[in-house]
Amino acid sequence: MPNDRVIIFDTSLRDGEQAPGAAMTVPEKVQLAQQLARLGVDVIEAGFPISSPGQFEAVRRIVAEVEGPTICALARAKTDDIDAAGRALDGGKRTRIHTFIATSDIHLESKFADPRYGQTLEEKRDTVLEMAVSAVRHALTYTDDVEFSAEDAGRTDTAYLCRVVKAVIDAGATTINIPDTTGYCISDEYASLIRTVIEEVDAPPSVIFSTHCHDDLGLAVANSLSGLQAGARQIECTINGIGERAGNAALEEVVMALNVRKDHFGLHTGVDATLLYETSRMVSTFTGFRVQPNKAIIGKNAFAHEAGIHQDGVLKNRATYEIMRAEDVGQDAESIRLGRHSGRHGLFSRLDRLGIRIDASDRAAVYAAFVELADRKKEINDSDLINLFHREEETSETPHYSLETFHVAVGSGQDPEATVAVRNLQDQSLVKKKATGDGPIDALYSAINHAVNEGHDLVNYTIRSVSEGSDSYGEVSVLVGLGGPLFAGKASSTDVIEASAQAYMNALNSLAAYRSDKESIAFVGSGIMQAFDSPKEH
Ligand code: MN
Repeated sequence: MPNDRVIIFDTSLRDGEQAPGAAMTVPEKVQLAQQLARLGVDVIEAGFPISSPGQFEAVRRIVAEVEGPTICALARAKTDDIDAAGRALDGGKRTRIHTFIATSDIHLESKFADPRYGQTLEEKRDTVLEMAVSAVRHALTYTDDVEFSAEDAGRTDTAYLCRVVKAVIDAGATTINIPDTTGYCISDEYASLIRTVIEEVDAPPSVIFSTHCHDDLGLAVANSLSGLQAGARQIECTINGIGERAGNAALEEVVMALNVRKDHFGLHTGVDATLLYETSRMVSTFTGFRVQPNKAIIGKNAFAHEAGIHQDGVLKNRATYEIMRAEDVGQDAESIRLGRHSGRHGLFSRLDRLGIRIDASDRAAVYAAFVELADRKKEINDSDLINLFHREEETSETPHYSLETFHVAVGSGQDPEATVAVRNLQDQSLVKKKATGDGPIDALYSAINHAVNEGHDLVNYTIRSVSEGSDSYGEVSVLVGLGGPLFAGKASSTDVIEASAQAYMNALNSLAAYRSDKESIAFVGSGIMQAFDSPKEH
């Protein structure tokens, strides 16, 4: 008899961050992890420590600074990966190692093509099973909470999948994840896969089965819920559904489906749904991924009734067109706005509610920045505050370049012209450059390119208004690349030219940091998922 409590496993910081261009800085990750703890998730997958020094550092800091949820680190079924995860989690109160290996025929034939894994498919299957078991045993030397994932379980031969799952449970794994890695399954299929595995392996009741669904066919949430009905009791999901390709199951949708349709599922989570909206806003700000207005639960229009007949109905009785209320998910939070008369108490209690903790020694500076913003903008909402604070954090990194001054001249009948002074913080040299362009941003970026003089392409430039009114914050997101990985830069300001300049500098600084980080280049170059084929292994 399965219990009725669903474990919410948030992977926004791991699978979510694998979305191209969604990279978050380490301070952003810590802040988001603190918000996830307030939200009430049970497990935070904080990163993939062996993949880069930045990932390792993020996991280490989250373990040290975030209380409440179990902190989980991802590791392939390899000794080095598990050792890195174990070291990153060292000293944590509740920690989990999540180890995975691919089990589908197509993955076995391509990732384990090397004959040392076996000549025939059957031999390769045996090898992978042994690797899974020894990975679980090794992970248990660091923590007694070990999760195993059979990568591409959705396309794995069911009998073989059951054999692997049985073996890793015998080895000591206590959570078994059955991911639909490629987003291929239809809901009834996925449910029957999970039901079959649970029946076949006949695990002790302490073993939890988990879903991990991708949204390639728009079915991630539906499949996750079907998995619960088949007996799974953990859902792996992300805020706003961010993640690889089309993303993961959206946490907010899963949680609200269980809340609103408790009559149907009879299940509950530990999530405080009234914090869903502000958590969504934070993820959107940190990743630069905007949420579409019609997005379920946290979209701007999710509770807006436009048609007259609907408005009339809602005024008479809200239940006519509403199955839940905006306040249930915290969508009304912005209605309480701050102004310059809100005072210190108003500011710091709001920041506290947003999960932004300010040390006593920094309070004077943060309050001064707030008052300065309040002078430019009548009303300050939660998005403004997150942006304000985000900007302070951004500048606390150690950049390679710093934009000392910029000037852009525009007017009718003349080409826009920009002048910049960029300091190279490695050798303290100051370079001044001038350029013209098709528009003010183009001119500005050309001038910065001349001053920085390192090869890169501008892949994407997005500007959006993140609050209301003509004095609102403009948020600029840029992506730069060099034919491989992409680097995001974000900045916001009430001056869009300034935000554009700063976002570009932030992206160029990430690129410069990456160039100087050889280990990370080698890792990404070999492809994190292909690395089993590397001949120096084994
Ligand atoms: Mn995934």
